[in-house]
Amino acid sequence: MNQNFDIIIVGGGAAGFFTAINIVEKNPKLKVAILERGAEVLQKVRISGGGRCNVTHACFEPNELVKFYPRGEKELRGPFHQFCSGDTIEWFEKHGVELKIEDDGRMFPVSNSSQTIIDCFLKATQKLGISVLTGQSVQSIFKKDNFWKVETQNENYIVGKLILATGSNPKMWEMLQQFGHAVINPVPSLFTFNIKDSRIKELPGVAAQVSVKVKDSKLTSTGPLLITHWGMSGPAILKLSAWGARILHDKNYQFTIFINWLNDVETNEAEKILKDLKQEQAKKAVSKKSPFDFPNRLWESLVLASGIETETKWADLSKIQLQNLAHQLTNATFQVNGKSTFKEEFVTAGGIDLKEINFKTMESKLHQNLYFAGEIVNIDAITGGFNFQNAWTSGFILANNI
Ligand SMILES: Cc1cc2nc3c(=O)[nH]c(=O)nc-3n(C[C@H](O)[C@H](O)[C@H](O)COP(=O)(O)OP(=O)(O)OC[C@H]3O[C@@H](n4cnc5c(N)ncnc54)[C@H](O)[C@@H]3O)c2cc1C
Repeated sequence: MNQNFDIIIVGGGAAGFFTAINIVEKNPKLKVAILERGAEVLQKVRISGGGRCNVTHACFEPNELVKFYPRGEKELRGPFHQFCSGDTIEWFEKHGVELKIEDDGRMFPVSNSSQTIIDCFLKATQKLGISVLTGQSVQSIFKKDNFWKVETQNENYIVGKLILATGSNPKMWEMLQQFGHAVINPVPSLFTFNIKDSRIKELPGVAAQVSVKVKDSKLTSTGPLLITHWGMSGPAILKLSAWGARILHDKNYQFTIFINWLNDVETNEAEKILKDLKQEQAKKAVSKKSPFDFPNRLWESLVLASGIETETKWADLSKIQLQNLAHQLTNATFQVNGKSTFKEEFVTAGGIDLKEINFKTMESKLHQNLYFAGEIVNIDAITGGFNFQNAWTSGFILANNI
């Protein structure tokens, strides 16, 4: 029986390491161990952000930052007032890692390598005397008086305080359910839409600024859309997949979307614009040049889909053809059949019910001296560095209040 530690953190990922380092920096006397089931720690950090680790996002206002979290928006408001993305930049700078902002707001280490973040964490844990124990897969946890007993396949630990930072691991959620915790059923978030449709078949790589609606739901989003070999991706689609994670799961990823390629222009307005173009460009071929701010190839495809042949002149467009084109531009219907992973960046919506966590301390409301950090709780965000920010913020709050 190992009783050498004051605190055990289960999970050697981003949240586990950040929490451990902050705890011991605040209270160097505490003996802390990280138990990791794998042979190596920080595996997700390594592959994150395409190997560059998108550490956080340049959104420094807590009330704005929360808007990127489909699950956790309300609960993170308080925590972000204690530790926000600006604090993340400062924290890493203090630990020798400089971050840079890219045009879209994503922040990466200047080195462009996730290894920099891994090295930073490993150096800090070594310096602080934190024990990092790999090959320790936690099989069960028990509560015994004021202590927690943690069993791995080859060792038993007794500790006063237990921190769970096991990410989206279903086994740990099952164990917690046995302790009375409610777990919100995990479903995928952040995915692209599979669409087979002649209008986009030849257009992979084409992008446009659009608004998208999901039929029979309140789900809408705006932003750049990217046509891919399998269907559609880009921020407008990824946002829908995150906000609609549960609704789209319930539809078994079979649903209809409406795309407005003119973003916020209504169908009758579009018809008026097209009528004016009919006058102004009477002698020109309709499909020749896109009059709108999106690529010509997409325009040609929408013109064809409206029943207008390639050489047709603007002057020769019938009323019906004009109406069809206005419809294709502002309310084009596409059938989604399934989903694909976005750049292998799979995020899970689901986890410990937020109602059962005290967000001032990250302690369980059901069990004293049991804490949570990172993705194990029912919080997730869209892509852009927000998921790691949740890991850093929860780790900091926990360390500050334990
Ligand atoms: C390919 C990919 C790229 C990503 N890129 C980004 C990005 O650039 N920016 C961003 O913000 N987010 C990104 N994300 C999301 C981000 O990686 C996660 O939100 C984040 O890693 C969650 O951290 P965590 O520590 O809570 O969980 P994890 O990183 O999943 O760590 C949990 C750890 O616990 C261990 N564990 C689980 N169960 C047990 C057990 N029973 N006993 C012992 N150990 C256990 C696991 O082995 C793991 O090491 C990416 C995700 C993926 C998959």
